[in-house]
Amino acid sequence: NQLKVHFPIKKGLLKRTVGQVKAVDEVSLDLTAGSTTALVGESGCGKTTLGKALLRLLPITSGDVVYKGQNIAKLSEKAFQAYRQQLQIIFQDPFSSMNPRMLVGDILEEGIRALKSNLSDADVVRECNSLLLKVGLTTEVRLRYPHEFSGGQRQRLCIARALAVNPSVIVCDEPTSALDVSVQAQVLNLLKQLQHEQGLSYLFITHDLSVVAYLADKVAVMYLGRIVEYGKVEEVLNRPAHPYTKALIEAVPSWDNDLGKKVIKLPDNMPSPANPPTGCHFHTRCDQAMADCSQIKPTDVLLSESHKVACLLYR
Ligand code: SF4
Repeated sequence: NQLKVHFPIKKGLLKRTVGQVKAVDEVSLDLTAGSTTALVGESGCGKTTLGKALLRLLPITSGDVVYKGQNIAKLSEKAFQAYRQQLQIIFQDPFSSMNPRMLVGDILEEGIRALKSNLSDADVVRECNSLLLKVGLTTEVRLRYPHEFSGGQRQRLCIARALAVNPSVIVCDEPTSALDVSVQAQVLNLLKQLQHEQGLSYLFITHDLSVVAYLADKVAVMYLGRIVEYGKVEEVLNRPAHPYTKALIEAVPSWDNDLGKKVIKLPDNMPSPANPPTGCHFHTRCDQAMADCSQIKPTDVLLSESHKVACLLYR
C-alpha cells in the first residue's frame, strides 16, 4: 500500500547525492490467496523493483506490505526471517540464480532442510523426488547439474526449488519470456496446476498480455514507477481505459537480442526514470494529451468496483 522505492542518484568522486529515481512511486495493489495479479509494462518501468521490494529483496523507502495481517515492511530483519520462506521469487533466467557447481538434488535438498531440519536423509531424498515429479521432471535428474538442462527444464527446477520451502506467495519475474512458445505454454500450465493444488498466490511480472489473459485474475499496468490502470483482467483487457494500456494492447512484442527476451516497444522511447516528465508521466507519448496533462498528476478514478485508472480524461 502506497509503496515507494526511491534510489539516490550519486555523482562525482565524492558520490554526492544529486537526485533520486522514483522506481516505485506510491504503488498500491493486492494479491488474494490462490490468485494471480499480473504486473505489465515496458522494460524499465519498475516492475522487477516492485516485485523484489515486496519480498524485501530491496530496501523500501516508505509504505506498507501487509501479508497475513502483518506489515512485513516494518519488521526488523530478524523478525522478517519468519516470513522469508513463505515469499519466493522465480526469475527469467533461472540458470543465473542457481549454483552451477551444485547437483540438482543438493540445490533442492538445501531448501527442504531449511524448512524441516529434523528430516532423515532418506526422507529428504523422498521429498526431493516428490518435488521433481510434481514439476514434471524425473527423479534421476537429482544427480545432474543445472547446465545439463534446457531452458524449460531449468525453469521447472527453479519452480521446484521455490516450492521446496512451501511458500504461499511467488513473485514470477518474466519466467517464460525467454522460452519458445510451446515450452512457455507448458511452464504456464504447470504454474496454473500448482496454484490450483497448493493455493499459491502469484505476482506475475510480464510484458505479454496473452499470458496475462491466460493466467491472471487481476492486472496492474505500470508506467515509470506508477500504476496507471488496475483491475480485473477481463475489464482491463476488454475495456482498457488508459491510453498507455491501449498502446500496450496494440503493440506487438518483438525479440530483443541484448535482453535475450521478447519485449514490448512503443514508437517513442520511454523517458528516463531518473528524469520523468512532470504531471502525467505518459504525456510526452500520449496521443490524447491535453494542456493540463503536463502539469497535474492524475489520481485514481474508479470506473467500476474492480477497475480504476489514473488519467485526466476521466476526471
Ligand atoms: Fe494522456 Fe493526459 Fe491521460 Fe496522461 S492524463 S494518459 S497524458 S490523457
